Amino acid sequence: MTEFLPQPQPQPEAEQSLRFVQDSFIDASVTGTLFIVATPIGNLNDISTRAIETLQKVHWIAAEDTRHSKSLLNALGVSTPMLSLHDHNEQFRAEQLLTRLLAGENGALISDAGTPLINDPGFHLVKLLRQQKIKVVPIPGASAVITALCAAGLPTNRFSYEGFLPAKSAKRLDVLSALQNDTRTLVFYESPHRVLDSLAAMREAFGAARQMVSAREMTKQFEQFVSGTVDEVLNYYNEHPDKVRGEFVLMVMGAVAQDAPEVTEQDGLINLMLQQALPVKQITDIVSQYSGLKKKAVYNRVLQLKELI
Ligand code: SAM
Repeated sequence: MTEFLPQPQPQPEAEQSLRFVQDSFIDASVTGTLFIVATPIGNLNDISTRAIETLQKVHWIAAEDTRHSKSLLNALGVSTPMLSLHDHNEQFRAEQLLTRLLAGENGALISDAGTPLINDPGFHLVKLLRQQKIKVVPIPGASAVITALCAAGLPTNRFSYEGFLPAKSAKRLDVLSALQNDTRTLVFYESPHRVLDSLAAMREAFGAARQMVSAREMTKQFEQFVSGTVDEVLNYYNEHPDKVRGEFVLMVMGAVAQDAPEVTEQDGLINLMLQQALPVKQITDIVSQYSGLKKKAVYNRVLQLKELI
């Protein structure tokens, strides 16, 4: 008599990994790949050899502004055909590029400068391709946010990239006010036309004493980092209008964590001395000696309370 044993049922996890293998197989053998290629943010030598090779080998390059990118590609010896992909045609262009990738072509996406999708077009395209299981490969390189952070001397263990602030002053202040207690380093992109307004709004939202760094024209001839309090950086640019040009990244130190109850217990004493107009350093010395608390924590709290007066 034949014994019918129950057949092993496929496990959900096994099914999933099988599907993954099939997808990878389809990606590799039939459809093309889109490479997201970072280009320099100023200094042409910052392009990687892998980026150049990729740009030479693909069937086409989708560029934010084909005229702008033509000079870069000429300088790199890349003659691959280009097509435009910008904010106004991305939806329509993404469908076209999907068709070409499905047909087996390989393509690259570049933007005017730095890493595509970082305040540049490409999100809609990459999302569509991922949904359609088309392979998307990053070719990393320069991006202003990371370039600025690595040389600023502000904490980089946790940071928040905020892109451009709104152009309208009320909205700009709303955005900044919502960030005033954020303890992460805050990173903003800014244009020379708005940098003074943004710094003034930062002083209003974060207080004059918050530490910050402005990184201007990075990797270019007139690269400049200016660091100090928000007040000092704003004053610097007010006094040097010739430096209010080029491209800016503004980085602001995060708020001091509000979890310092030992210091807040000293608020009454600190306020008393602030009202008597004692210098911040002297108040810090007295309170830290009196309480045994670390000077840095006391100093930050004195600055916070001074702002409230
Ligand atoms: N995709 C780019 C990236 O990866 O950084 C950003 C493009 S966004 C449209 C342009 C902004 O980036 C500029 O307005 C400026 O805030 C910042 N930026 C780009 N290059 C810069 C540079 N060399 N120095 C300082 N800021 C720069």
